[in-house]
Amino acid sequence: MASNASDHQQGEQVALTVLVEKLKNKVLFAECGKDFVDVLFSFLTLPLGTISRLVANESNIIEAMTFGCISSLYQSVENLDEQYLWNHTCKEMLLQPRNSMEAYFEKMKLNIDGTESLPVFSCEDDNCRRKNGRYVCTFSDQKCICGKLLNVLHQSKSNNIENGFVKETCIFIISDDLFVMPNLLGTSLDLLQKLGIKDINAIDKQTVNISKKEACSVIF
Ligand SMILES: [Zn+2]
Repeated sequence: MASNASDHQQGEQVALTVLVEKLKNKVLFAECGKDFVDVLFSFLTLPLGTISRLVANESNIIEAMTFGCISSLYQSVENLDEQYLWNHTCKEMLLQPRNSMEAYFEKMKLNIDGTESLPVFSCEDDNCRRKNGRYVCTFSDQKCICGKLLNVLHQSKSNNIENGFVKETCIFIISDDLFVMPNLLGTSLDLLQKLGIKDINAIDKQTVNISKKEACSVIF
């Protein structure tokens, strides 16, 4: 985990406190609250297609990174002419997959996925809707089970309960290898001891703001 406070990107950022070993200018661990821990945990909800996209587009490393063979699959779909696909939304489904947790993302300070809580679509036929009302699709112009188009838009409503993943009142410690732990009494002292830091004056506390690009670089 690198401290690169000078390399801010535009857009939303979340703050965290990093403890730096002064002599080596090395980040030992970070202290943060809900905003940043929610960002880190949200990576676990991402579809593989989204991870491939983020790895290619959001890494801070100059040479484009790949996500093993998944990146090859992603690139294959990107390059594939639509004439080979079942329908025109298949490319969007594969390259911009919907995240089932998008309502959670919408309320987060830093939305890694970048998706909004999008509408769902149901059948254009009133009778079919009444009968099969719960048959909805997240992509428009798909065929209903009755053969007609699913093109009646329903705006999905954000649920107030969905407010990220961890409690607002908690403070966490994040180790250099990204273990996230509650900041209980003694946690940071134990960690400092494990890292061989005996003198508290040898460390410095700094606040850094993390952008989407920097958060992706931490993970990938
Ligand atoms: Zn229908």
